[in-house]
Amino acid sequence: MPDIFYGFLGLFIGSFLNVCIHRIPREESIVYPPSHCPECGMRLCARDLVPVLSYLALGRRCRECWSPISAKYPFVELLAGVAFWLAASQSENEVMLLKNFIFLSGMIVVIFTDLEHMIIPDAISLPLLGAGLVFAALPAVAEFAGMTLPAAVPGIKESALAAAAGFGGFYALAVIGELLLKTEAMGGGDIKLAAAMGAFLGWRLLFLGLFLAFLYGSVIGLALVAARGGRARQAIPFGPMMAAGGVTALFFAEPVLAWYAGLLDNLWSIT
Ligand SMILES: [Zn+2]
Repeated sequence: MPDIFYGFLGLFIGSFLNVCIHRIPREESIVYPPSHCPECGMRLCARDLVPVLSYLALGRRCRECWSPISAKYPFVELLAGVAFWLAASQSENEVMLLKNFIFLSGMIVVIFTDLEHMIIPDAISLPLLGAGLVFAALPAVAEFAGMTLPAAVPGIKESALAAAAGFGGFYALAVIGELLLKTEAMGGGDIKLAAAMGAFLGWRLLFLGLFLAFLYGSVIGLALVAARGGRARQAIPFGPMMAAGGVTALFFAEPVLAWYAGLLDNLWSIT
């Protein structure tokens, strides 16, 4: 199957991720009722559900009540399309591809739910944690059933250790942060997300992803302070940084590490 096919698949999955982003934080079912306009309740039909194109064809408005449709919807669809395309071009086998699809879908849902609601629901992070561990355990389970599957990366040992490290590390950060800042610095959602990311990525990519998350957080935090003329202390959710860091680590570990090594070399030659 050509990689671009998976890009198109990603557009449709992105459409479903929009439903998850809208409904999971509201504790609504993600399958029932069918998609409808959040303003007037009009049920969407097939021609309203084509990713990106429906949004453009409808002139960015609901056909019934004319309330504007958020640009977030086509954006999420495009994001999922590009992510799935990249995953297809980089995954070594079908099992890894499916695993990466699930990881990427989870990270997209985390980014937008946390931005919108400042929460990472357990209904997202815990199934992700479970899925990461299951994928890591798959080859061993398959062998038991007399089948052979390609080796999982990371394997079950590393996956479980990285999940525990993510959980423990962020739990410690939360405790220290609360002592130092006298306010909740790291939410329970972030701790469980770190565990889920560890299960999927293994410890190498988890550390790289979290390093990038702190980098993104600092850059965006500084930019916000600059934009607001020095007034800080506005809570920025950290989940989206973690998810974005994890996705960057998954796709671009080698170029990022090469960049970092080059940076160190340059610093070295200056001093
Ligand atoms: Zn409407």
